[in-house]
Amino acid sequence: MDWTDRFAGVRRWSRGGERAAHKPLLLLYALGQFQRQADEPILFSQAEENLARLLAEFGPPRRTTPAYPFHYLTSDGLWTVSTADGGASPGPSPSALRRQEAAGRFTPELARSLRADPGLLPRLARVVLDTNFEPSLHADICAAIGLDLEAAETQAAGEAERRRRDPEFPRLVLMAYEYKCAFCEFDGALDNGSAPGLEAAHVRWWTHGGPNDIDNGLCLCSIHHKLFDKGVLGVTGEQVITVSQHFTARSHAAQHLVYDLSGKRVIRPMRGYPAVAANHAAWHAREVFRAPARTA
Ligand SMILES: [Zn+2]
Repeated sequence: MDWTDRFAGVRRWSRGGERAAHKPLLLLYALGQFQRQADEPILFSQAEENLARLLAEFGPPRRTTPAYPFHYLTSDGLWTVSTADGGASPGPSPSALRRQEAAGRFTPELARSLRADPGLLPRLARVVLDTNFEPSLHADICAAIGLDLEAAETQAAGEAERRRRDPEFPRLVLMAYEYKCAFCEFDGALDNGSAPGLEAAHVRWWTHGGPNDIDNGLCLCSIHHKLFDKGVLGVTGEQVITVSQHFTARSHAAQHLVYDLSGKRVIRPMRGYPAVAANHAAWHAREVFRAPARTA
């Protein structure tokens, strides 16, 4: 049985194409717990607040409860839940999970494999990150969970198992946008020809079927890339930048960097390259952007 395939197979979107981040975030949380305290059971009532925070920060912009993954992950054969009196999971109700002191843990076979192979835990975490989240978010998610992958990865295997991103995509996107942030026009460059503050962003996430096409890419500076992947910034099908009402900036510098973008037009790529496609912009607006947008 290959655990990496099993972890990669945990559904990351629903039938309607909606981003389903619940189970991946619970898996990462459980891996972080396992790294610290091996297979001690995780009490729902103790994990609930942390899981809710993770879902709010890294999940899609929809109201939800950590009780769903806590219960439903049992159907994937990786996770079991039992109550204080030894019963099975009482279902996806937060109050029932609390009342019956439900606790979850990895299945005994998975826990045994994790103990036997110390390289397995970081490999599984990478698989979940790579198949569910844009790379700009990986370090933030690990920090929020307290998952230390670099230390665990010194025996680094598993590199070959990671799905390869197209190494040409960033180069082509930066070139199409003439090495300029499509939101703020930042275009700093080093004298060796590199552009250290610029990155290629996927509009529809690569992990969720987003193609490596120019009309699914944006050249963004590092700060606007991060804010775009976190749903603070968005783009409409009419190529207008949106700013989430959930974001606040206190200093003039931060206000200028973010608020002033609201209602501005996205810089177009050079002639001959397509702008962001409306269907990719719509996916990002639905699955990532934290609506509502500020009025420009
Ligand atoms: Zn920028």
